[in-house]
Amino acid sequence: MKREKGLLIVLSGPSGVGKGTVCGALRKEDTDIRYSVSATTRAPREGEAEGVNYFYKSKAEFERMIQDGELLEYAQYVENYYGTPRSYVEDMLAAGHDVILEIEVQGALQVKETFPEGVFIFLMPPSLNELRSRIEERGTETADLIDNRMTVAKEEIDLMDKYDYVVENDEVESAVERIKAIVTAENCKKDRL
Ligand code: 5GP
Repeated sequence: MKREKGLLIVLSGPSGVGKGTVCGALRKEDTDIRYSVSATTRAPREGEAEGVNYFYKSKAEFERMIQDGELLEYAQYVENYYGTPRSYVEDMLAAGHDVILEIEVQGALQVKETFPEGVFIFLMPPSLNELRSRIEERGTETADLIDNRMTVAKEEIDLMDKYDYVVENDEVESAVERIKAIVTAENCKKDRL
């Protein structure tokens, strides 16, 4: 049964909860899901590559993309801009592919305005302490930035009610299994046929 339009899946949750890891694990599975690559003004971290993790932009380039309506959503997060290029997502959905966006909460709420038919999944850390240790272990942020990210994380967790599903990221494999189950169930909904 081929659907005319793909499903837009928004995976969100606080920084450090493991969205990237969960998405990476999901990508290795044999699914037809397409992954949107975001634009950002943040500098690449070691091991990241242009067009794979992000499209790295200057502030001026990013602001030009906003002006020209090239972004489906964007947010200023801690000290940088992050946004979803519109054309890839719209083209993939129109071709019948499911597309996943891995974005922070403000952006997810913007997408909800424009794509209320999307599926909104909140990835939840087992606890705030666990979240802090995950960010610390990653070792990519200074102490001040970790404090900032924890403040944002608490605000983000308060917005959990706006989502359709909450998936606890206790173990990556089980979080991936639950997300796949959600996507399967959503695709079987009769009003999507
Ligand atoms: P990081 O700097 O750790 O790669 O990402 C910081 C936060 O920005 C994460 O919560 C990540 O999910 C979010 N993010 C990544 N891409 C986008 C995007 O295109 N739009 C929005 N709104 N957030 C994004």
